[in-house]
Amino acid sequence: MARKTTIRNDDEVPDERSDSGMDGGGSGGDKTRAGGSDEDDPEQQRYDDELRPSRLEDVVGQKAVVERLRILLEATRRRKEPLGHLLLDGPPGLGKTTLATVVPRELGTELQITAGPSLSAPKDLLPYLTNAGYGSVLFIDEIHRMPPAVEEFIYPAMEDFRVDITLGDGLNARTINMKLQPFTLIGATTRSGMLTAPLRDRFVNREHLDFYTDEELATIVTRNARKLRTEISPEAAQEIAIRSRGTPRKANNWLRWTRDFADVRANGKITLEVARAALRMKGVDDAGLEEQDRKYLQTIIRVFGGGPAGVQALGHTMNIPADTLEDEVEPFLLREGFIQRTPRGRMITAKAMAHLGVSQKQNPKQPRSGSDNAEQRELFD
Ligand code: ADP
Repeated sequence: MARKTTIRNDDEVPDERSDSGMDGGGSGGDKTRAGGSDEDDPEQQRYDDELRPSRLEDVVGQKAVVERLRILLEATRRRKEPLGHLLLDGPPGLGKTTLATVVPRELGTELQITAGPSLSAPKDLLPYLTNAGYGSVLFIDEIHRMPPAVEEFIYPAMEDFRVDITLGDGLNARTINMKLQPFTLIGATTRSGMLTAPLRDRFVNREHLDFYTDEELATIVTRNARKLRTEISPEAAQEIAIRSRGTPRKANNWLRWTRDFADVRANGKITLEVARAALRMKGVDDAGLEEQDRKYLQTIIRVFGGGPAGVQALGHTMNIPADTLEDEVEPFLLREGFIQRTPRGRMITAKAMAHLGVSQKQNPKQPRSGSDNAEQRELFD
């Protein structure tokens, strides 16, 4: 099967957008993401790549998902057929890209990487499809952000390994079919709910990634400290883990920060005291909440009387894209019981009030009539 054995990762391919026509020229490794997220930052991407596990055996946690992947990979190897298309969903920083890069490496096949927002028309996707070798992997990050025309273009490619290209228009229009090599599409999404049913159904394998336990995160922190040649005590690794919101990317970022802090303020060793002081300086509290999380909770209390509050209105008030709130702020707050989602919007919980030290008296449940809520009115003026 696998004819090519090279894996082209983000940092190994030129960052070229393939919007240069339909000449099949580019297989760029571009990753364009929603505004305001950590992942937009090229330095963040470099750091992610530096610490990314390269083999399945190095992947920590997600036991059930990894176990099922092992079976799929083994069956694929034995049958010498391409792996069925795989959809990975879950909040940012939980390992979707990691698994998408581990799979081709385990299979010894080639990997191409792109992202939904950079595929604005079918012609942007075509070079990736025509370049895909037998059994190779095409990874599309943020696949829910592909425009409908691109989505429709990808259906026959996924199902029959074929693309339909229309040449000319009007009476002279002609459709030609182009055969593709059977390949595997790995899609990643933070919003499986935003995927259309026809696209979701074309993925035979679907896996959901969940938040990590503190123990798993402590293992990741300890391993990565070794990779970064930094000494860290087990208590400090545990402390970083507890404050990382169940997210490996966060844990890695706090490790990087505590390491800088230890180099400058201590003797380079990350002890419990050093870790605590470093995280305090970043405004991370005992529950792992940061400034933005607290601001979100306070906005629901102060502006929306504890809720219900719609995410769009919250986003406008905080001047943060609603997407960013939904992807990066809310999942952890929901899981930890700091907010509730109701059909009418987000509600603050007693746990959040206690955490912020706000008494019920300071949060009288107010009717949402608007006339007595000047701040609310301002939002919609
Ligand atoms: P996503 O694509 O879901 O946003 P990534 O796969 O880019 O997340 O993960 C971010 C970083 O977190 C990776 O660079 C890697 O260092 C770390 N990471 C994620 N999942 C794991 C895991 N299961 N084991 C070890 N490290 C992980």
